Amino acid sequence: ERFVEFIDVEKSYDGRTFAVTRLNMHVAKGEFLTLLGPSGSGKTTTLNMLAGFERPTHGSITLNGQPVDRLPPYERNIGMVFQNYALFPHMTVEENVAFPLSVRKFSKTETTQRVHKALDMIQLRKFGDRRPGQLSGGQQQRVALARALVFEPSLVLMDEPLGALDKKLREHMQLEIKQLHSMLGVTIVYVTHDQSEALTMSDRVAVFNNGGIAQIGTPDSLYTQP
Ligand code: ADP
Ligand code: ADP
Repeated sequence: ERFVEFIDVEKSYDGRTFAVTRLNMHVAKGEFLTLLGPSGSGKTTTLNMLAGFERPTHGSITLNGQPVDRLPPYERNIGMVFQNYALFPHMTVEENVAFPLSVRKFSKTETTQRVHKALDMIQLRKFGDRRPGQLSGGQQQRVALARALVFEPSLVLMDEPLGALDKKLREHMQLEIKQLHSMLGVTIVYVTHDQSEALTMSDRVAVFNNGGIAQIGTPDSLYTQP
């Protein structure tokens, strides 16, 4: 049930001020949890600590009962998608999607099968030989999604993944991410400052303010609270 757990987590970058304070929250297996809040409220810091990029100043974060910062990066089994897709520009779409498998030492046969399956999932199989620069913004973001999902991570972290897209494409990608979430049953922690995006996509929303959670609950419960 408590697949991810934050217990009394605090983070200070400068030893004086706190980017995150007294953070207690859990994420259930298969859940889609969104961290919603204004710029500077501590969302990215929270995600980076969960990814193991930053260490909490106090408190603990566990993944499947194990402290995240004690697991070697590739054993954390976490997929990530960020706003500026960060696809490798000199690699083809297939090579980009295959990359997480190569660093995890999957066999050639298994790699090919998984890459093709992932490209089918995002309907870009026929663009496998293209480079990112030859794709539209939405297509590039779909490749980033495929790359994050190809090794079947148990947890996927997304930080403003649709921030660079226009409104129409953003709404389309919201549906696509929701469909992938229910199809794969993967646990997602998603960061956005867009309230409608948070309410449309999530099972639960954690509303961040000043480094802490001001409210947490289902989209319905957040609306009916006074
Ligand atoms: P959000 O994702 O909600 O915009 P952040 O977690 O990025 O919030 O930032 C929370 C606070 O921590 C801000 O005051 C920000 O300036 C500070 N902060 C974030 N990252 C760093 C860093 N690497 N070094 C120093 N301060 C940082
Ligand atoms: P969708 O999943 O909605 O098809 P796309 O990212 O494929 O999203 O396309 C979004 C928009 O970008 C569409 O209007 C499409 O016509 C346009 N588009 C698609 N491919 C390219 C490309 N290589 N260069 C420029 N625009 C493109």
